[in-house]
Amino acid sequence: MTHTHIRKVALIGCGIMGAPIGGHILDAGFDLTVHNRTREKAEGLLAKGAHWADSPAEAAADADVVLTMVGYPTDVEDVYLTTDGLIRSAKKGAWLIDLTTSSPQLARDIHDAAEVEDKHAFDCPVTGGEQGAIDGTLTLIMGVTEQEAAPVLPLLECFSSRRFYFDVPGGGQTAKLCNQVSLASCMMGYADAVALAEQSGIDVDRMLEVLANGTGGSGASKTLAPRSVAGDFKPGFMAEHLRKDIGLALQRSEDLDITLPGAETAFTLFDMLCQIGGSRMGTQAITLLYDDEATCTAAGLDWSLLEQDEDGCDCGHDHGDHECSCGHDHGEGHECSCGHDHDGDHECCGGHGDDHECCGGHGHDGDHECHCHHHDD
Ligand code: NAP
Repeated sequence: MTHTHIRKVALIGCGIMGAPIGGHILDAGFDLTVHNRTREKAEGLLAKGAHWADSPAEAAADADVVLTMVGYPTDVEDVYLTTDGLIRSAKKGAWLIDLTTSSPQLARDIHDAAEVEDKHAFDCPVTGGEQGAIDGTLTLIMGVTEQEAAPVLPLLECFSSRRFYFDVPGGGQTAKLCNQVSLASCMMGYADAVALAEQSGIDVDRMLEVLANGTGGSGASKTLAPRSVAGDFKPGFMAEHLRKDIGLALQRSEDLDITLPGAETAFTLFDMLCQIGGSRMGTQAITLLYDDEATCTAAGLDWSLLEQDEDGCDCGHDHGDHECSCGHDHGEGHECSCGHDHDGDHECCGGHGDDHECCGGHGHDGDHECHCHHHDD
């Protein structure tokens, strides 16, 4: 199949990432039909010439390629595997490409189900963030061979500048989860550094320049730390999505019977940020966890929510029949992965109550002064 054989493209999911990707597809001259749960988010694409469909099935009916860029594995499952999902409703021979960061096992299931129906499906999560989507320079992390993906390359090239092939179904998702656990630790690294600099009274921007010029820096410290320091917590990449990604990686690590201490700590922090009202803030809001309560409140967080909802997940999903996509067990036996002893009155490192222990793990007796700013008195 050459470019001329891909004429009609469908896009399901027109959020932060999907909308700019759709814009590049239109600019490249493809005939685009879009569907999004909330229609308003697709208005920009409709104004540029995309057609609207009322459901994923309607969008896919006539499409040579269907791209999906939804939020969670549960959304992916809904869009692909329900009775009127893409596996059934797309035409024979169609390509179904999932750009969502999702579960490797689900990607394998979708690939296998599509094969039975004479359709081609592969996982293709992305990195590069909102800016990469706007610029059309995303990196694609693909669970397919280069040879197999060749027919759809002209479409993928219009919104990406680099592609990595991991050859097997689910391979793209696994590699993306590796990227996410590394990203999460980089974010904790710069958040620690910013807190240490601020509390020591040195110039924080100059400290970040030091990171940028040495091995202590990261992509995250370059692009996100300045936004944290400036108090700009707009997403970008939402905290609840990074929590989802770390949860998926932890789920995988449990299957493999390995421990990922960095990811476990990061899960605790991002889960806490989500629980106190930061789910839809950008991930750079992690630095708020180190700030005093007044700063947190001014930014829109509410620490009292943590105490109200200690066992429950606030990921925004109904946990009636389905599993939370954060990857953790939310039942009675749910164990916090922060590695702290939670007996007695100790609260995990975001709790600010009387019996709170310092998040730095320091003894507070004697003359040691805590700088974590989480103490009521
Ligand atoms: P987002 O803004 O929430 O976009 C997801 C869109 O999918 C939303 O507009 C949502 O509809 C729609 N959707 C969800 N389920 C649907 C369904 N069943 N049918 C139709 N539409 C549905 O999130 P995003 O930032 O674009 O991220 C999308 C995915 O890419 C996530 O998995 C994320 O982890 C990943 N990712 C994000 C970034 C980033 O920097 N933002 C970077 C790389 C990867 P509503 O409008 O109704 O919510």
